[in-house]
Amino acid sequence: MQDCIFCKIIHREIPAEIIYETDNVLVFKDIRPAAPVHLLLIPKKHIPTFFELGPEDVMLMGELQTAAAEVARRLGLSNGFRLVSNIGRDAGQLVFHIHYHLLAGRELKWPPG
Ligand code: AMP
Ligand code: ZN
Repeated sequence: MQDCIFCKIIHREIPAEIIYETDNVLVFKDIRPAAPVHLLLIPKKHIPTFFELGPEDVMLMGELQTAAAEVARRLGLSNGFRLVSNIGRDAGQLVFHIHYHLLAGRELKWPPG
């Protein structure tokens, strides 16, 4: 997608601090961290929101969650982490390319508000 900021990161058209990459998934640091560890996990396939997910994406979304596990192990986040996705307007989604936020490094309040 031409005007998608995360697609531009995937194609190295804008910089990001990339933490982990596979054929289908990219993990990089959030530019405005809300916790000591704040990563974004994205599929390389451009899908705007969870509303557009279909049966063809089952493996891909599994890979995305498994990437979260792998990154958490590598970073030693044994105290825990939060994996969240903001979907649509009411949740405050700003970038319309599916992503999970991985937050860690401090006690995380619940509910987030
Ligand atoms: P949201 O769509 O509300 O779930 O959040 C999008 C997230 O992307 C925000 O936390 C932003 O700080 C982050 N973000 C936006 N642009 C960039 C960028 N160029 N590099 C890294 N993170 C970004
Ligand atoms: Zn995109």
